[in-house]
Amino acid sequence: MQLDVLAIAPHPDDAELGMGGAILRFKSEGLKVGVLDLTDGEPTPHGSPQVRAKETTAATAVLNLDWRENLGLPNRSLEATLEARAALAGVIRRLRPRWLFAPYWVDAHPDHIAATQLTEAARFWSKLTKSELPGEPHHPQRIFHYYCVHLKLAVQPAFVLDISQQWEQKLAAIRCYQSQFVNGRSTDPPTFLDQLRDEAAYWGKTIGTRYGEPFACREPVGVSSFASFM
Ligand SMILES: [Zn+2]
Repeated sequence: MQLDVLAIAPHPDDAELGMGGAILRFKSEGLKVGVLDLTDGEPTPHGSPQVRAKETTAATAVLNLDWRENLGLPNRSLEATLEARAALAGVIRRLRPRWLFAPYWVDAHPDHIAATQLTEAARFWSKLTKSELPGEPHHPQRIFHYYCVHLKLAVQPAFVLDISQQWEQKLAAIRCYQSQFVNGRSTDPPTFLDQLRDEAAYWGKTIGTRYGEPFACREPVGVSSFASFM
């Protein structure tokens, strides 16, 4: 299995929230897309490992992913250790993605911050020669950062992707996580899902489309032609 895109998520549901639209767009363009969840995301107030695993399987089917695994690192105490770095670098060398996606680097959730640090360090390690890592050296061309942030940030993304055609399916993938986004939450409007739609509509408005998904990048983003701009 060789991937074009590997999204790295601290918890099952973060990739769906932050870049479900991009994943669906990649898939519609014929790219191979995988998600690596770093932890099982449990415990949570209304979830359990079994329920969360079932929800993840359902969301994986909605996103039509080519690959998804869980690295089995500890939820709530995720750390960018050398051991975790080696494990993630091994996955990157095995799957050889062109692009990596990681959470945005500013967050209130320590697991999210650790996931970003871990991804950046593992990307560097995955290119090393003369190492004990499995497989051949591989250096993903870019790391893009998606937003699934536990802070009310007013962000300035590097670019916004038009996900008007993908929005309903992205929402369907998010809805699979009933234990996280529906059960036990207020049904008074705006519900959590209403707020997600409002946010996607806001980002769509910034680029003149119905719905959008913002992304950050620590490095400048190149374009081959002005025709790529909307
Ligand atoms: Zn999370």
